Amino acid sequence: MANSKSNVQSQTLNTCDVAIVGGGPAGAALATFLARDGHHCLIFERSKFPRYHIGESLIPHTHGTFKRLGLLPGLEASNFPKKYSVRFISPAGRTSSPFYFSERISGQGAQTWQVERSEFDQMMLNHASQNGAEISSGAEVTQVLFKDGCATGVRIAQSNLEPCEIQARIVVDASGGATLIGRQLGLRSAIPDLKKASLWAYYQGGVRLEGIDAGETTIFRIAEGGWFWYIPLPDDVVSVGVVASPEYLFADGNDKETIFLRQVELCNSLAERLASAERVSPIRGGQKELAYINRQTCGNGWLMIGDARAFLDPIYSSGLFLALASAEMAAECVHLALESNDVSATVLGRFEPELTAGVGVIWRLIHAFYDPEFSFRKFVERFPKQRGALIDCLIGDVLNKDFSEFIQALAQMTPPPVLL
Ligand SMILES: Cc1cc2nc3c(=O)[nH]c(=O)nc-3n(C[C@H](O)[C@H](O)[C@H](O)COP(=O)(O)OP(=O)(O)OC[C@H]3O[C@@H](n4cnc5c(N)ncnc54)[C@H](O)[C@@H]3O)c2cc1C
Repeated sequence: MANSKSNVQSQTLNTCDVAIVGGGPAGAALATFLARDGHHCLIFERSKFPRYHIGESLIPHTHGTFKRLGLLPGLEASNFPKKYSVRFISPAGRTSSPFYFSERISGQGAQTWQVERSEFDQMMLNHASQNGAEISSGAEVTQVLFKDGCATGVRIAQSNLEPCEIQARIVVDASGGATLIGRQLGLRSAIPDLKKASLWAYYQGGVRLEGIDAGETTIFRIAEGGWFWYIPLPDDVVSVGVVASPEYLFADGNDKETIFLRQVELCNSLAERLASAERVSPIRGGQKELAYINRQTCGNGWLMIGDARAFLDPIYSSGLFLALASAEMAAECVHLALESNDVSATVLGRFEPELTAGVGVIWRLIHAFYDPEFSFRKFVERFPKQRGALIDCLIGDVLNKDFSEFIQALAQMTPPPVLL
């Protein structure tokens, strides 16, 4: 990996333009854009890549960012299954017809991928490095440093080395669910309305559909508003995960294996797909409060991107899209701040209203999904003109668009969430 440093050497690396906490997709994308603009970016990543990560299904509106990053050739050459559609299966086993992204998008962008994250994240981080970002692997940021309310750098811990401090003009928190700044400044809070837990595992030999449906995401709805994902990955492996309220999922105890296998058994149409498959992983997950938000996401000298900002719910596979979109939008503001020598929250946070509005639409739709009185079929029957807007949300086309009519229509069938 070019420019990769396994240890921070304080003599050579004690200052930079941008210190990025976390080398996941958000951090790697931001660093690529900024390094290309000539800014000295340091990514601190506490793990050694390749490392495992959940979150394997992309949605089509990542295409533009991948193109601008220059990652499409790598994705095209990969063995990641191509994803053209999503399909929903009801608790009674009724199958919706596949919803093909080509209904709303023409050309190459109507297809996306199901990615194995260890490989995908490594690809993205290598790309950041090839574009000039410096990577410190095995380097954990333990604290963001502040002076007079402005972030000034980071403190780093690495095994077998003395802790050191790196000065930076801007600190970007891309630490994912670790939410480094959110925790340090006490900004993070759970979203009680979206309190969900998840358990998942990997199987080999599960049923694969034919032709362009082979890479689809299938969502199996289960009791109590819960659901399973079924995401085909390379090498005949499929990622299978359940999401439901922790009260329902953990009602009879905390043994992950017992709970997960029982839920698979209860979901007949999923159990059929896995009848001849072999489980090839332990049961993972088990965290009981997936959703959180930060009440402030940018300040003087710092900002948050990707999951470090917020995580709502896995249902629409919007996590990676939001990680990439927030990174690209933030990169423009960081560039502007560095060029104008003004790292104030006003400059760094210019991208936030557009992003927050887009996230708000997704949040609204997640809330509707979990309303037992609401159904998308009934919604589209009553408001046929809103079908396009609904699909736009599912493919991630939510930024810089007016969804007010759609939101008003939704409000006639399901109450809005309590925004924190
Ligand atoms: C159950 C579940 C299912 C999901 N399914 C999907 C899906 O199908 N599709 C989808 O798009 N999204 C999905 N997601 C969400 C997706 O995983 C995330 O949105 C995505 O990984 C966010 O990328 P990121 O770069 O912001 O954070 P991450 O990918 O989490 O990267 C953060 C990086 O920061 C590093 N780090 C953390 N703290 C520090 C520190 N102090 N110092 C240095 N490094 C640090 C971590 O090691 C990590 O590598 C799912 C999430 C869950 C919980």
